Amino acid sequence: MARNYPGGTPLSVLTTQPLDGPLDYLAPEGGAALGAFVKVPLGPRQVLGVIWGEAQGDYPVEKLRPITAVVDVPPMRADMQDFLMKTGAYTLTPLYQMLRMTMRVPGLADPPGDRTVYQKGSSAPDRMTDARARVIDVLEEDPDKLYYPKELADMAGVSASVVKGLADQGVLLPRSAPRDAPYTKLDPSRPGKTLSDSQKDAVDALRAKSDQRFSCTLLQGVTGSGKTEVYLEAVAECLARGQQALVLLPEIALTVDFLDRVEARFGARPAEWHYGVTMTERRRCWRMVAQNGAQLVVGARSALYLPFANLGLIVVDEEHDSSYKQEDGVFYSARDMAVMRASIAGAQVILASATPALETWVNAEAGKYDRVVLDRRFGAAELPEMVPLDLREEEMSAQSWISPRLAQEIDRRLEAGEQSLLFLNRRGYAPITVCRVCGYQVGCDHCDARMVEHRFRGELMCHQCGETKDKPKTCPSCGIEDRFAPIGPGVERLAEEATARFPEARIALLSSDLMLSGQRLREHIKSIAEGEADVIIGTQLVAKGHNFPLLTCVGVIDADLGLQGGDLRAAERTFQLIRQVAGRAGRADRRGTAYIQTHQPEHPVIKAIISGEEEAFWRAEAEARRSAGVPPFGRLAGVVISGQNLSQVQGVAQAMARSAGPLHAIGAEVFGPAPAPIARIRGRHRMRLLVRSAKDPRLQGALSLWRDGVTIPSQVRVSIDIDPQSFY
Ligand code: ADP
Ligand code: ZN
Repeated sequence: MARNYPGGTPLSVLTTQPLDGPLDYLAPEGGAALGAFVKVPLGPRQVLGVIWGEAQGDYPVEKLRPITAVVDVPPMRADMQDFLMKTGAYTLTPLYQMLRMTMRVPGLADPPGDRTVYQKGSSAPDRMTDARARVIDVLEEDPDKLYYPKELADMAGVSASVVKGLADQGVLLPRSAPRDAPYTKLDPSRPGKTLSDSQKDAVDALRAKSDQRFSCTLLQGVTGSGKTEVYLEAVAECLARGQQALVLLPEIALTVDFLDRVEARFGARPAEWHYGVTMTERRRCWRMVAQNGAQLVVGARSALYLPFANLGLIVVDEEHDSSYKQEDGVFYSARDMAVMRASIAGAQVILASATPALETWVNAEAGKYDRVVLDRRFGAAELPEMVPLDLREEEMSAQSWISPRLAQEIDRRLEAGEQSLLFLNRRGYAPITVCRVCGYQVGCDHCDARMVEHRFRGELMCHQCGETKDKPKTCPSCGIEDRFAPIGPGVERLAEEATARFPEARIALLSSDLMLSGQRLREHIKSIAEGEADVIIGTQLVAKGHNFPLLTCVGVIDADLGLQGGDLRAAERTFQLIRQVAGRAGRADRRGTAYIQTHQPEHPVIKAIISGEEEAFWRAEAEARRSAGVPPFGRLAGVVISGQNLSQVQGVAQAMARSAGPLHAIGAEVFGPAPAPIARIRGRHRMRLLVRSAKDPRLQGALSLWRDGVTIPSQVRVSIDIDPQSFY
């Protein structure tokens, strides 16, 4: 039980307002618990906050104002307080901003409300239809049960209007029920799939961890080995102990497959937490997580900040995925934060991947994490064959990106009724729009970036700031009309080529630009997986774990793309992405093949991708990082100084470079300042500094001393990214 403070006790309250720390108030009449969510007066306003502890006492007690009201939700637990303080300190984020991450939920302060639910009545419908019969079937399974209208429609697989029609006729009786109802119980004792011997061994190894207070295990299994089946058993174990589990997925489009599998395994769907979920469902999820009314949550990275009452397991699926790194507002790595959350809460962590992040692999090698390996595909399925296609030897016609050899292979699959996937990690139609007369390239007005043509949307778009404009008719540089040409391919242009080359085939494009809602995107992917397309064309959206059972041929259009740019993780990312995409090919009955188009088949990364010698690749990559003293062996912090006024930005950057004493004192080096690779975004100029240090826990302290030692005008923003993933 949380500590209870009697009315009138001086307390400190952390609010979500941008202040240095908690403020002192008096406990309300009737008292309040440590961690309680409260409303407090701040100047003329009422703001939300959390009782953080006893008053700091630097303010006279007789001047303290009382807490206005206690919000009717369970108090924040001590382990969450601890988590916020530790992650705030690690990422150099002020505590109020960390608190906002946990309170990002609609209607937190609203009293619990009611909404209409339905129960089976005694009258029969005037006319029976298939749809109506399905609803009645669901109702008859358990006549006492109450259903939300939408829930009932979903369970019966009918539209909302069918349910409404039945309600209008009195077949369904309206009742009033709390808005935030517990989720349907999951039953971990239902039998799961019959596991293979190696899967069983993996499950046993994971189960053995549950005796420990905390553990972190890398579940490293090739694509199709059954990692999901295996970690669902760990989830089952956790639920059977009466604890809550959280599964993080990198992409909401993946959830449909996962939800189905959870339902097959546990008899009901889990709670969901991501941007595709409605406000009422988010509110319900947050509250039920706090009240132990949700056993399993599947979510995006922000689900780590949900107020779990009794957390027993966190699974980070596709743990290498770069979308786990948030680089907006609070800079954090959800993978690392999951480990921290579990270590504080006393829970198990499973990091699942076919191609782990180098950091994770090194931690497993060093014995810091346990490792469980699944090195074969489930059943008779074999890993795809990897075939390099040397573009220097293929006859490529102008404006064409599918080599004759690859085209032949796709033709063969079309004849056999199998699916092919063409992978190109470039959104839009063409990355460059150039004037053929003078060479002028259309750029963004606010960023140092080219505008990318999007034909599907019918406009040019900046991938930095999202700004759009029409394709210009007249060149602003030479004044000549209608001479703009697209240069290079994006997926939309590749789809155009495929349509021309395979006129009989059904072509499906999968990219985040389709402007589909989460639900529609999931349906789109599902229908493709069920065979609604012959050739799939996709960005990295398709690399992420979705199963396409009919897919036997993968063509990587440009394997060299990610190797340019000299990013610290270029090799690692390329390796992961292409191995993942290739892993989409081939299932039990037919072996798949991945064709890798490249101009440099002799490049060590391309060779490692083709040979599949993953351990050798990670070992070499780790060695290179070790000798360069960069992560995971050393630490980096990326610093971006930005503002509208260039000379002000330069001034701050130079002042920071000059006053790096606190960093030098711990032996860290400071590089720069230099204009950032993208020197302007949304009209703000950007300069970069890079800090490199040994793995030294004093780094954060030194960084904040450094930042606080420089006068920063209010128009200039300094953001520090610990363990940066990108360097633009
Ligand atoms: P991974 O996550 O490692 O890529 P999955 O868990 O998605 O692998 O499994 C790949 C496919 O094999 C899925 O369609 C899954 O249902 C099937 N599969 C894996 N293990 C089993 C099993 N023990 N019994 C039946 N099907 C299985
Ligand atoms: Zn822009």
